[in-house]
Amino acid sequence: MSLQTWLLVILISLSAIGLALTAGAVSWVMRGVLYDRVDADLVASVEGWTQDPDIYVDEPQGPPSEYAVLQITPYGQQFWLNAGDSRPNLSEVEIGEAPINVDSLPGSQHDVEWRAYGVGTNQGVTIVAKSLERENMMITGLLAAQGVISVMLLVIMGVAGRLFINAALRPLKEVESTARAIADGDLDRRVPQWSPDTEVGSLSAALNKMLTQLQGSIESSRNKENQMRRFIGDASHELRTPLTSVRGYTELYRSGATQDIDRVLDKIDEESGRMQLLVEDLLALTRAEGSRLNLSPVDLFEVTVAAASSARAAYPERVIRVGNNASDVPIVNGDKDRLHQVLINLISNGVKHGGDDAEITLELSIVDQDVVLEVRDNGRGMEPEVAEHIFERFYREDTSRSRGQGGGSGLGLSIVKGLVEQHGGTIVVETAPQEGSTFRIRLPRLINPQAASR
Ligand code: ADP
Repeated sequence: MSLQTWLLVILISLSAIGLALTAGAVSWVMRGVLYDRVDADLVASVEGWTQDPDIYVDEPQGPPSEYAVLQITPYGQQFWLNAGDSRPNLSEVEIGEAPINVDSLPGSQHDVEWRAYGVGTNQGVTIVAKSLERENMMITGLLAAQGVISVMLLVIMGVAGRLFINAALRPLKEVESTARAIADGDLDRRVPQWSPDTEVGSLSAALNKMLTQLQGSIESSRNKENQMRRFIGDASHELRTPLTSVRGYTELYRSGATQDIDRVLDKIDEESGRMQLLVEDLLALTRAEGSRLNLSPVDLFEVTVAAASSARAAYPERVIRVGNNASDVPIVNGDKDRLHQVLINLISNGVKHGGDDAEITLELSIVDQDVVLEVRDNGRGMEPEVAEHIFERFYREDTSRSRGQGGGSGLGLSIVKGLVEQHGGTIVVETAPQEGSTFRIRLPRLINPQAASR
């Protein structure tokens, strides 16, 4: 059964019980009043006209028609007065006690109820009974009237109650239709706002808050899905280019267009080298974004010196300097290997993209609560519109030089940024054409290395 029906059933049942109890009480009080009056009449008759000997003579003028009188003389003679076809059964009447209700004797023409009262006098015993037909009819009439009024009231209450319950449940219906609309994909729908002091109002406020949060998380997971799709698309595209070249060279050789097997193999080697680089960068990127850091207090100066000497070994002909302006030990809570990887990426970018004469400088300092590490080169720098995009995945400045042998996958700086942010730090670039580039990393300094989480 619906809530609406339930409420209506409860309302009508309770009202019906209330009306029935009221009718019963009213009738009971009415009955008491009427019987008191009959009792007073009986007492008056026992003391009054029943004692008039005239009414017992042969042709009595008789008592009023609704009375029946039984007179028993001290010698046991019984005289009935006014007792025709219906006479009361007086066997239960106790002399001198309060009046009681009695039925008609069996065989009476009208089976009516009587009120009977008996007293003893010096002329014997007198029992008077008065028919309750009129009183009982009044009580029955009263009950019937109350019944009719109650039924009318219940019908009115049913109709009014239905309207009222409908109005009270309307907000819930709106919540329901909102929920349906949302389930059908209309994520922007919200429950109407009612006063927050009402139950439905606070429910709708809570629902709207929940809906906004849900919508946020759905949208962010959609964004992530889109990013992932774009990433996979970009990665496949990047891999397809060297693969197409490899197939092109094999086709070229197979078709006999070239007999220079060494050249073909060189090209295939070159292209597969690019593929390997790309796959390694992809792996590094997923590692940088997906895995947890192996955190410990790390002296950034040590990491910088180590990275510089690895880079000097890789590019022996290049100048790579290290400077330390830090006023204190530049310790951060970090992953030593990952920070090394960050520096190597930045140094090799300077070497690869800065130009053949570019010199690289690594410099440490402490600013406020942070350790600042700059990787500078005095190379060719970048246009602002290039610098804006360099941290995006697969972004490369579109020059023939960077697309050539020296060009990377375009993932290096996204890896660097991902790692720095995982460390709770930031990375920015300052650059201008022909004025070199400065990559500035800020990492929160570890003031109390002993307390660091390991
Ligand atoms: P990759 O080095 O694999 O091309 P990166 O994400 O490391 O990819 O760099 C993106 C682009 O940013 C590079 O292609 C290059 O155009 C530019 N770039 C990065 N570092 C420098 C630099 N030190 N000097 C000039 N250009 C740079």
